[in-house]
Amino acid sequence: MNIHEYQAKGVLKSFGVPVPDGAPAMDVDGAGDVAAGLEGPVFVVKSQIHAGGRGKGKFKELGPEAKGGVRVADTVAEVRAHAAEMLGNTLVTVQTGPTGKKVSRLYVENGSRIESEFYISLLIDRATSRVAFVVSTEGGMDIETVAAQTPEKVVTLTVDPATGLMPYHGRLVAKALGLQGDLAAQAGLLATQLYTAFTATDMEMLEINPLVLTGDGRLVCLDAKVGFDSNALDRRPELASLRDEMEEDARELAASRHDLSYIALDGNIGCMVNGAGLAMATMDIIKHHGGEPANFLDVGGGATAEKVAAAFKIITTDPSVKGILVNIFGGIMRCDVIAEGVVEAVKEVGLKVPLVVRLEGTNVAEGKKIIAESGLDVIAADDLDDAARKIVIAAKGRN
Ligand code: ADP
Ligand code: MG
Repeated sequence: MNIHEYQAKGVLKSFGVPVPDGAPAMDVDGAGDVAAGLEGPVFVVKSQIHAGGRGKGKFKELGPEAKGGVRVADTVAEVRAHAAEMLGNTLVTVQTGPTGKKVSRLYVENGSRIESEFYISLLIDRATSRVAFVVSTEGGMDIETVAAQTPEKVVTLTVDPATGLMPYHGRLVAKALGLQGDLAAQAGLLATQLYTAFTATDMEMLEINPLVLTGDGRLVCLDAKVGFDSNALDRRPELASLRDEMEEDARELAASRHDLSYIALDGNIGCMVNGAGLAMATMDIIKHHGGEPANFLDVGGGATAEKVAAAFKIITTDPSVKGILVNIFGGIMRCDVIAEGVVEAVKEVGLKVPLVVRLEGTNVAEGKKIIAESGLDVIAADDLDDAARKIVIAAKGRN
């Protein structure tokens, strides 16, 4: 689960991490009020969307000459003017894709005098099963470019969970940032605070870009991108309020409400499958026959007809879906329940694309009967290979 910059800074601040003073605002008056209450003399007005690259981003509605999604203001009146331009408009950045994201929240904070910009992030390194620090002196830029063109400028170090963070990790971070003396001590403390925040809240990603050295010799986090491990949210109920459903894919959101494992993909063949392994195999075999899956969807073991109907609706409302493959192996899940759910959903939302159904296992005869008697225009399939071939052919050439 990703959160907004202002929320991430709130979490980090509670662990002692230095961030500029600021507050979120939902409208122009709110933005003006926040600025009026800040020290200044310079303010920064920042679009809050779940994507980076906001500074260099462009608002769709404002034309190429207009300023980006992170703007500096010298007066409260200027803050208000920027807020009025940004709120309600669509910001397109390298990370949002061409459709962009609508800006509904702003963050107004004190402007910092920047001497230099650094990069620091923490993430789970799956290869070593450890929390890793990724540190670079090249902050404020696209770190992927830095890593590709000048890999020697990106330093990675991992923390053994048996020892936790040790003072020497802090010294390595300071060294990687090229800092000495008091600044090295600040970097060491920051590393401890970030590591503590990361592990204490089950983050899976924490990225500070840029971390800056200010004119008065302080290290301050000017940007913060945080993602939490969704599997840990049950034990972190305090984080639930940080979720912004407006930022999430509408179909993935509907799926999570129905407790379905759904991930939107780029292809055009919708898949409804039970069991993650079978769902992966189904996607593979669709690709093998020259098709592209539009989604991963595991309806799970004990799904009800309602849940199946909800899943089917999520697939059919995806405009890129040109054909649907239902592939069920009835074990705990019964084929008749799946059939009922599919029929129920089609009754409600209709069916405009070809549908291939492959049922096997528990109650398969009942399931096939329900579908046969429903009058649904279903292409029956004998086995998975046959099903995949049929749906790829049926979906081909449809726009
Ligand atoms: P993004 O990464 O989405 O573009 P950032 O928060 O990193 O957004 O802001 C972009 C740039 O704006 C930063 O690299 C920094 O140079 C500048 N900036 C951001 N916040 C402040 C601030 N509080 N004071 C001064 N400059 C800032
Ligand atoms: Mg940034």
